[in-house]
Parts: sequence; C-alpha cells; structure tokens
Amino acid sequence: MDKINIEIDERSGFCYGVVRAIEMAEKVLDSGEKLVSLGAIVHNGAEIERLSSKGLVTVDSVLGLSGKTVLIRAHGEPPETYEYAKSHDIKVIDCTCPVVLKLQSRIRTCFDQISRRGGTVVIFGKLGHAEINGLVGQTGGNAVVVESPEDLDSARVSGKIDYAREIALFSQTTKDPQEYSRLAGVISKRIEDAGGSSSLLTVNKTICSQVSSRHGHLEDFASRHDIVLFVSGNESSNGKVLYGICKNANPRSYKIEKPEDISPEWIKEGDNVGICGATSTPKWQLEATADYIKSFY
Ligand code: SF4
Repeated sequence: MDKINIEIDERSGFCYGVVRAIEMAEKVLDSGEKLVSLGAIVHNGAEIERLSSKGLVTVDSVLGLSGKTVLIRAHGEPPETYEYAKSHDIKVIDCTCPVVLKLQSRIRTCFDQISRRGGTVVIFGKLGHAEINGLVGQTGGNAVVVESPEDLDSARVSGKIDYAREIALFSQTTKDPQEYSRLAGVISKRIEDAGGSSSLLTVNKTICSQVSSRHGHLEDFASRHDIVLFVSGNESSNGKVLYGICKNANPRSYKIEKPEDISPEWIKEGDNVGICGATSTPKWQLEATADYIKSFY
C-alpha cells in the first residue's frame, strides 16, 4: 500500500478548564489523599481510567459522602451541592472552570434583576447536562432551558416564556454558535409577532472561546484531509458539535472513542489522514490513534 500521511490537529486536545481540573485532581491524589469526583471529571473513558488507576473514584451524587474530599468538576454544580457539602462535613476541591463560574454569576445577577420585572432567563443547552444544572441552580430552578428553536413549542417550554416581556438569553459554554444565533432569531421574531420591541431580548455571548475558536479551524482541517478521525467520548457535548462540523466539511469523517474502533476499509491507499478531537480528548489519545494506524499501514 502507498504510504499514508497522518496529521494530528495541533489545536485539538483538552481545553484550559479540563487541564486545570485534572491538574488539581492529580495534585490531591499525588499527596496521598483520597478523592471522590462528583460525576466524570472529563467525558473521556480512557482518561477516567487513567485517573482511576491513581485512585480517583467517580460517583453520581453528593449524598452520603460525609467526611470525604469531593471534587467538583469543570462543569460546576448548583448552590445546593455546596450547601449539602457544608452541612455534611464534606471537603470540596472546587474545579469549576473560571469561565463557567463567571457565567453562573452573570445568570444569578441577571435573574435577580429581570425576575422583578416579570422577565425570563432562557438558557440554550442540554437538559440534565451538569453545566446546565449548575446554571439553572443560580435561578432557583426558574430559568427555562431550551435545547433547540423547535423546543420552544414543546409542552415543557411552551407557556413558560412571555414574549411580551424581557427575555435574557444565555448559552451553555459548549454549544454551537450558529444554532445559538438561530435560536436568538426565532425568539426575536416571536417578540416582534407579540407586538414587542426588539430591545426586550438580550443575547449574551457566553459560548466559550476555547470551543468557538475551534469551529472554523476544524472546518478547514477536515476539508484539507481525505479522511478525518475524530476522537471523542460519546458523552461529550462539544464532541458532538465539533464532530458535526468535521462531517459537514468532509463526509469521510468518522467519530471513534478508541483506536480499535477504526474500521480497516475506512482508510485507502495514499490517504491524507487527519486526527482531531473534542475539548475533552487528551493529546495522548490522538497520538495513540496515529501510532495504531502506523502499525497497520
Ligand atoms: S470548554 Fe471552556 S468553559 Fe468549558 S471547561 Fe473548557 S475552558 Fe471551561
């Protein structure tokens, strides 16, 4: 077979918030202290396995962790988690990403003001996602989570937004900027249809630049290669968005969790192979994927 070329995307790999959380976790584990992570520290099975081998235990709930040291991951948590920890002798290692912390604070302040005037805080994001739970928690559960423009008409959302009053729109940090603009456009049209002024809607720019800056870059990267292998955990929210960008730019894009997922027929003679990943994909996994391919071709 003709030699194939492999390029690893230099801008793929963990984002700042994930690097910071993992470094904080490793510092605690290396000191010999036991550490429990509230939810997966990163949506990447291989990295979790690596940290588990160092002693990190992952649990789904803060309940019953009295006396333990608990890590809050980059996604953040709602205020109730901190209150529970405080009243149950739980030591918290808070790894909430500073970008998410700032967003939580903005939503809290906005809700305090807008709710007095009968307005609504709307958050674009995935229902049940940890970051969304933390954001909604800043409003005492009153923010309306919208997953897509079509969701505005769902039984869950419909009737909860008054288009004749103020609406403050925020986005989960890892969402697709284009989808966010589309949602803002649909809400704006509904305000207009209700006879309101466009000034009733405030669209806050809250998509993380570590995610949005990868969009154009990945589009270019995917179109420059014959085949793209996108490495990401199935649970990763931004992994789904970024993979969608690759697939649009290059139909021969494949999402894999580990090198063994690669199907031999995907790669042809002389192919230029591009390897990239989500903000929750470690660089070492991209390198392992390249090594795996080299061992076969
Ligand atoms: S994507 Fe952005 S907001 Fe989310 S953890 Fe990474 S740096 Fe923080």
